[in-house]
Amino acid sequence: MLTGMVWYSHSLYYIYLNKSKSLYFWIIMPIDPDFPKNHQAIGKHKNADGQNYHYVWGPGRLSDAAENEEAIAAYTARGEELVPIGVHGTMVAVDWDSCYADGSCIEVCPVKLYEWAKTNNDVSAVQMANITSPGNGSTDKEGRIDYTDKSDPIRERDCIWCMACVAVCPPQAIKVDQSNLEYHQRADQTFREDKSY
Ligand code: SF4
Repeated sequence: MLTGMVWYSHSLYYIYLNKSKSLYFWIIMPIDPDFPKNHQAIGKHKNADGQNYHYVWGPGRLSDAAENEEAIAAYTARGEELVPIGVHGTMVAVDWDSCYADGSCIEVCPVKLYEWAKTNNDVSAVQMANITSPGNGSTDKEGRIDYTDKSDPIRERDCIWCMACVAVCPPQAIKVDQSNLEYHQRADQTFREDKSY
């Protein structure tokens, strides 16, 4: 049986066998509408400016990126395994398992909040869960390293809640919700019940 590729697909689900011969079954879907409920912080992605950082949430699950032809070809070319990654960001949350490097969010964001992740650190997406990025990556729609790249909400705190990125994302990988600040602060151990922060 071939590995590292979609082994069987249907309009609603896919079966994938990775190089470790682990079989994944998943249903195609956008970012979890209930995010970040049922997720846990699995990493902290920092910006080298010392001010910006965002949490990474798991568990991930194989989704749209694992059935996108350009993404599959790019993963194969790099020798990077298609495995669950998770969600980067909390108030501006990008499901990296759904993101297949379209770049429309990067193009429309009026505050240039997003950067292509691998133009900062050319490592696997999984390794991005706990890393410090220079914060001078590409903010051009076509600036991706390749189709394994991901849109990184590297300046999450700059969001002005316009929802433009949510509207244009083809796989609906983005959830923007200011009220998720509580989850960010709980992960940060800065949350206070009286909300007088
Ligand atoms: S909601 Fe608007 S400001 Fe916030 S990340 Fe999306 S496009 Fe940028």
